[in-house]
Amino acid sequence: MLADSRLYSILFNKCPRCHQGDFFVTKSAFSRHFDQMHDRCPHCGENFSPEPGFYWASMFVSYALFTIWTLLTFFIVVSWLNVDLDYYLLGLIPSIIILTPYFFRVARRTWLTLFVAPRPVHKQVSQE
Ligand SMILES: [Zn+2]
Repeated sequence: MLADSRLYSILFNKCPRCHQGDFFVTKSAFSRHFDQMHDRCPHCGENFSPEPGFYWASMFVSYALFTIWTLLTFFIVVSWLNVDLDYYLLGLIPSIIILTPYFFRVARRTWLTLFVAPRPVHKQVSQE
C-alpha cells in the first residue's frame, strides 16, 4: 500500500516513477556526499533533472519542513513539557543544523515527486 504511494519514494530515497532505483547516490543523509543525485534513475531511466534550476524551488519545501519542525518541537517542548524558552532555543539551533542534510534530501525528493506520476514496477508489468 505504502509502496504504491508518492510518500514511499520521498521517505525511502527511491525514484518517484518506479520506486526501485535510488534517488541519491548515498543511502545516508549524513554521509560526505549527501547531495549527489543520480542524473537518471538506475532502474527505469527517469530523468531526475527535468530542466536547469528545477530544484531551486525545492528550497520552499525545505522551508516548510523547517517551519513544521520548529512549530512541532515548540509545542512539545515549551507548551507541553514546560521547558524554558531559552533552553528550547539553545536546543533548536543544533537540531536545525543536524537536520539540514536530511531535509535537503526530503525536499528534493518531494519536489520531483510532485511532477512525476508514480508507476511502480509491478503495475508496469500488468499494463503491458
Ligand atoms: Zn525509476
